[in-house]
Amino acid sequence: MGVDEFDLVVIGAGPGGYVAAIRGAQLGLRVACVEKEPVPGGTCLRVGCIPSKVLLESSERYEEARTGLGAHGIIVSEVGLDLATMLRRKEQVVSVLTKGVESLFRKNKVTHFVGQGQITAPGKVAVMRPSDTIELRAKWIIIASGSRPATIPGVQIDGNRICTSTEALSFPEVPRHLVVIGGGYIGLELGTVWRRLGAKVTVLEFLDRILFGMDNEIASEALKIFRKQGIDFRLGTRVKSAHVSSDVCTVEAEGMEPITCDRILVAVGRVPNTDGLGLETQGIQLHRKGQVLVNESFSTSVEGVYAIGDVTMGPMLAHKAEEEGIACVEKLVGGHAHVNYNAIPAVVYTQPQIGAVGKTEEEIRETGRAYRKGVFHFRANGRARSIGHTEGFCTVLADLQTDRILGVHIIGPDAGDLINEAAAAINFGATSEDLARTCHAHPTLGEALKEAAMNVLARAIHI
Ligand code: NAD
Repeated sequence: MGVDEFDLVVIGAGPGGYVAAIRGAQLGLRVACVEKEPVPGGTCLRVGCIPSKVLLESSERYEEARTGLGAHGIIVSEVGLDLATMLRRKEQVVSVLTKGVESLFRKNKVTHFVGQGQITAPGKVAVMRPSDTIELRAKWIIIASGSRPATIPGVQIDGNRICTSTEALSFPEVPRHLVVIGGGYIGLELGTVWRRLGAKVTVLEFLDRILFGMDNEIASEALKIFRKQGIDFRLGTRVKSAHVSSDVCTVEAEGMEPITCDRILVAVGRVPNTDGLGLETQGIQLHRKGQVLVNESFSTSVEGVYAIGDVTMGPMLAHKAEEEGIACVEKLVGGHAHVNYNAIPAVVYTQPQIGAVGKTEEEIRETGRAYRKGVFHFRANGRARSIGHTEGFCTVLADLQTDRILGVHIIGPDAGDLINEAAAAINFGATSEDLARTCHAHPTLGEALKEAAMNVLARAIHI
């Protein structure tokens, strides 16, 4: 068995792992990154964020060409769908981006190993490949093994008719009727894609609301809009079982007649990838829900072994993993990096988009903290009118005493980009006054956020 020596071995080449590896190399470390899939990029690049956003973009254009251009005076006589080309384009985008990570590895001299990484002792990682096993030695090991789709009892995923988000990115034809189990990020984004392409979509959600964890008012508005767009939501519906017979799927839930459909997407959350890493044998402590436990320096219970991203606690978001990867490595070499968990934005890429950062109104109320709220609707924003996307609003929540911004929640056009300004504001400890007095270019959608901030003190102009 060959042995290779490094300063740092990162297990997993998703957005957490590959970013940590590159940052380590920038800081002068000899770095190896071990990935079991043939290409780097993790769930995000290969079968998550990127391919889903490609399909959201393509399907939005298709829907707009079919139903939205007439209002602009553009006459399109025949609009057709070439699903194979749409899916091929998605694969091309993924391929360019994963090749980009490989080239960043080469540029930064990160050694990339394809194989299953397993910690065999402190400072030792075995890389199991089809043909052989090699041993890597390093002062530090970072576990960045990510997460995988959760399942529910009674629903056997077959990867075809009953599938996860991975397969729902590549259906060979548009389903006639797609049942989505779970009204979270994945269910809403992929449900939206297939609805736009012509499927009847039914979302079965266990809770009495969608988008659990997001601000209630925003989630209620989203529900109203998505219902208007044609998605059928059954809330308070816990799915008990699903099965397939001759390509016909049947879903059963409490208090509901069984539904038949041709495809089922199970989108009920994700679970951390902790199997096969040698965590138990090394005595690395896990949370009772399965995540690797770490301290504020990302150190696990075993010295020299660190963990970041989806495999640890907190939101399962690519950008959270990236921040942790950078902070973890900078701390290893004696830096003082930290992650501001209160300033991590979250985005749902439907139309309208949803962007959120900081505390929800419910969370603020729970703490008993006095706050003010400013709201501004996109229908009163000039840019939103010009582009024809006037649904939704921005909400700015600020502390009553200090005026510091506690949370910003946006449902509306380009909310996913607008929310970054709010994240910067929260990160810098800005007040609503700071945001309100920042000159925003006109005519832009960002002016709606500024006016929401102005409206914290009831002085928005365009209301
Ligand atoms: P989620 O946790 O967002 O939503 C899952 C939903 O399934 C919940 O509302 C839950 O109540 C419901 N559910 C659970 N069991 C059920 C049952 N038996 N019957 C009916 N409903 C049931 O999970 P997700 O949508 O699968 O997303 C997983 C993760 O991926 C999220 O943590 C998210 O952060 C991440 N993600 C992010 C983005 C993005 O940033 N745009 C996109 C996709 C996924």
